[in-house]
Amino acid sequence: MLLLREDRHHGFLLISAGSAGSNGKMRRTKIIATYGPAVASVSKLSQLAAAGVNLFRVNCSHGTTQDFVRAANLIKSATKKGRFPVGLIFDISGPKLRLERFDGKLTIKPGQTMKLTTGQTDLENRTISVNHPEIISSVKKGEKVFIDDGTIVLDTVAAGKRFITLRAVNGGLILPGKGINLPRTDIKIPTISDKDRDDIKTAIRVKADYIALSFVRSPSDLDQARRVINSYGGDQRIIAKLEKRGAIDNLEKILKFADGVMIARGDLGVELPYAELPRLQKRIVKLANRQHKPVIVATHMLESMRFSPRATRAEVNDVASAVYDMADAVMLSAETATGKYPVESVKTMDQIVTTTESSVPYPALTVASPENRPDITQAIARAVTSFEGGQELTAIFAFTTSGYTAAMISNLLPPQPIMALTPDERVMSKLTVVRSVYPVLIEQPRSFEDMLGIVQSISEKNRLARAGNKVIITGGAPFGSTVPTNFMMIYEIGKRKRHARRSKRK
Ligand code: PEP
Repeated sequence: MLLLREDRHHGFLLISAGSAGSNGKMRRTKIIATYGPAVASVSKLSQLAAAGVNLFRVNCSHGTTQDFVRAANLIKSATKKGRFPVGLIFDISGPKLRLERFDGKLTIKPGQTMKLTTGQTDLENRTISVNHPEIISSVKKGEKVFIDDGTIVLDTVAAGKRFITLRAVNGGLILPGKGINLPRTDIKIPTISDKDRDDIKTAIRVKADYIALSFVRSPSDLDQARRVINSYGGDQRIIAKLEKRGAIDNLEKILKFADGVMIARGDLGVELPYAELPRLQKRIVKLANRQHKPVIVATHMLESMRFSPRATRAEVNDVASAVYDMADAVMLSAETATGKYPVESVKTMDQIVTTTESSVPYPALTVASPENRPDITQAIARAVTSFEGGQELTAIFAFTTSGYTAAMISNLLPPQPIMALTPDERVMSKLTVVRSVYPVLIEQPRSFEDMLGIVQSISEKNRLARAGNKVIITGGAPFGSTVPTNFMMIYEIGKRKRHARRSKRK
């Protein structure tokens, strides 16, 4: 144990800031920050990146195509000089039900009535327009309507053709554009609207790495989205946002078809009783890890930091819980998009994650490959993570063409950071969400000598290992071909230089 701690201090955990977490440690769990008006400048976004953001999310529920293009450009300018790539997620609204935008606000008290309509908003008559007419045609008398992540609860007392009348059970302030949830209503709305198609086109145009699809109910929703992405010439990977009962019912199938999942606790905690969230979170993370799919825990993680520079103790515990559960990433929403303390929120999240990770036990997972078939990459990943004396190894260098090996090793939870070395820019940025994986763009090595040179130089540049430290290297030989990973070696840093010096003397 002492050895490990010593190695940690003198080995890979001591790297410089920017890519490192607080305490100079290389953070395993990734941090996602949501873009919004509070950070809409290169200087603010750069501060967020320097504080530890690994991916930015652009939420297409708010804004126009122009706004999204501007957001992507600002994010790219702010992150292009960073040591490691920062990923970009476009979050497509999908069949999100919401109030239309209006000027002003409406306060509703318990017992008071209000109307939702397909027509015009009229605040004086407590009538608000909605974004999908199907809401009005589907809600029946007696059903509950939830507004703003379930903060405001109303009973439907009358259902007409153009409006429904609701009586408030819980009152509160109703702001424009807030979400509506109808957990008990059978409502038929297409998975991908015309607006979603436009947003997908924009995501492809700005080269987003991931498209997050809201309100996924079944694998066919993902299939539909993938066909739309492909039809516009995109290659974006799809993150299924789990926020509907249907998604939980179809969880295993969705995990199979999606490239990753997000536990969207805001809507999920309204669509299902919120007391179910903790156990659901644990179940989803476990299943996603088993299927080797990145999993993001999202929403309300540091909610109070929208208005306060310090998190509540419960929030600190919530972030730590996601780390203990083995999530790949934790996400900030309104904290960075509209909050008063966006940079402090990222720093706080980074501190909690880094501190928690130093005490997380890292047992090697004993999981089968997703399709239960023998897999050379997986055998190597297992060898890497179960190697006796592995704790003395300071880093893992995975030469990868598709990103598969790096993701596979990540899921076996090695204690070392995984440097994913790839000549493919798209593969590189898509690995930004995977736990412990730090992608680096390289020129394709042509020989073992080239490969060792790359390892040596990246180790030095990032202070991952010092002369005499041992690292693991995995890759596929012969080099330059697209063979999958087929070798693993233990390499002592500095050996190549010493060998070269000795050869020269001879
Ligand atoms: C959520 O509901 O938790 C979520 C992440 O989605 P959105 O931010 O689009 O509401």
